[in-house]
Amino acid sequence: MAVQVIKDKCKGCTKCVKSCPFTAITMEEKKAVIGSACTGCGQCVEACPFQAIEKADDGKQAADLSAYHGVWVFAEQREGKLMQVAVELLGEGQKLAAAIGCELCAVLCGSGVEGLAEELFEYGADKVYYADAPELGQYTTDAYTKAIYEAITQYKPEIVLLGATHIGRDLGPCLAVKCNTGLTADCTKLEINPETKGIMQTRPAFGGNLMATIVCPNHRPQMSTVRPGVMEKASREPGRKGQLVKLTVSFQEGDIRTKVLEVVKSVKEMVSLTDAEVIVSGGMGLGKPEGFELLKKLAQRLEGTIASSRAAVDAGWIDHAYQVGQTGTTVKPKIYFACGISGAIQHVAGMQNSGLIIAINTNESAPIFDIADIGIVGDLYQVLPAIMEEMDKLPNASNH
Ligand code: FAD
Ligand code: SF4
Ligand code: SF4
Repeated sequence: MAVQVIKDKCKGCTKCVKSCPFTAITMEEKKAVIGSACTGCGQCVEACPFQAIEKADDGKQAADLSAYHGVWVFAEQREGKLMQVAVELLGEGQKLAAAIGCELCAVLCGSGVEGLAEELFEYGADKVYYADAPELGQYTTDAYTKAIYEAITQYKPEIVLLGATHIGRDLGPCLAVKCNTGLTADCTKLEINPETKGIMQTRPAFGGNLMATIVCPNHRPQMSTVRPGVMEKASREPGRKGQLVKLTVSFQEGDIRTKVLEVVKSVKEMVSLTDAEVIVSGGMGLGKPEGFELLKKLAQRLEGTIASSRAAVDAGWIDHAYQVGQTGTTVKPKIYFACGISGAIQHVAGMQNSGLIIAINTNESAPIFDIADIGIVGDLYQVLPAIMEEMDKLPNASNH
């Protein structure tokens, strides 16, 4: 337990009960009792007017921190192919490891995917911890959690980064709970505090209106998930070598409580906004769902894909898989067309790092023009056909 009640000092005032955000405190015989739901947040310590609650394990935790070394990146792979977010995390991990002065490692799980270790070394990993087992061929929460938790316990990394993919969002919290540490989800910026060498994890809070920087001072490892498309990819150094550490994993009957019967790919997995070089995105300014057909024409000619604002998704015009923004996908294409999109902060959060932003909007005061490289004030139903007409006139038009 991270906090404890000093029974003699407790006056039974119940202030702590009300202060606990996790309803972890109950009263028994007029004394406060801390339950198993306690996360150690410390709110009750502050709330007690009689100093009857104290942090229990600060000394032990502080002593343990020095045993943790190295930055780990979860090398997510699917069907033997490394996910791009793993390369982005290696890019970010390199900076963090350099700021701390420690090694950068990748942790890879799968069945017969040892070959990916070469790729991870070339992208900057000094070491690759590899867990190979038939049970790790398909992702399951139990199998991956067990394999990586055991590796964390044995090798003690100080930082563990995961992509905020479906798998990372599932695996990260499970690992954090087992390791009795914290996890900051959906980070957009990671930095090392030069004094403490701890990680400062920044993420949007309160609907994106505020950026919160979160630290994990008393527990290890420090864990973050990072959205795909946010961090710069690591550059590849062909032939770069590293150390492969094979993990021993074995599973007993009952360790894995789920069984994957079949994998059915949904629209979501077929839409790859993060890899697209050109995105033609539409919002409520389209006026109707059919408007996306016009966007598709331009996207196809530029070998790109369509996307949308959340308002268009909420209106039922297009699947959520196409949504760009804070609660959708973060994208970084070479060209981003924002057609009939006002430029709300939550949308901009997901596309502001695009190479060239071209905005088309009838309202010249629309906030999207503040971040656009090229702003066209006009009706998208006139502007887009005009753009395609001009493209037809180009000498190599047949290639577009
Ligand atoms: P509107 O704001 O209605 O803008 C439509 C624009 O089209 C206007 O600027 C108008 O001038 C222009 N227009 C109209 N007709 C035409 C025409 N014929 N030609 C050209 N322009 C025209 N939004 C996201 O997009 N992604 C997110 O991930 C996201 N997450 C959110 C999370 C939270 C917690 C909250 C509170 C909101 C979130 N939103 C998100 C919603 C966001 O705040 C906006 O409501 C949304 O982005 C607006 O979508 P829009 O620009 O398509 O619509
Ligand atoms: Fe006891 Fe302090 Fe809780 Fe009051 S706030 S019930 S004194 S522990
Ligand atoms: Fe509740 Fe936080 Fe106190 Fe634990 S430390 S009992 S979670 S207020």
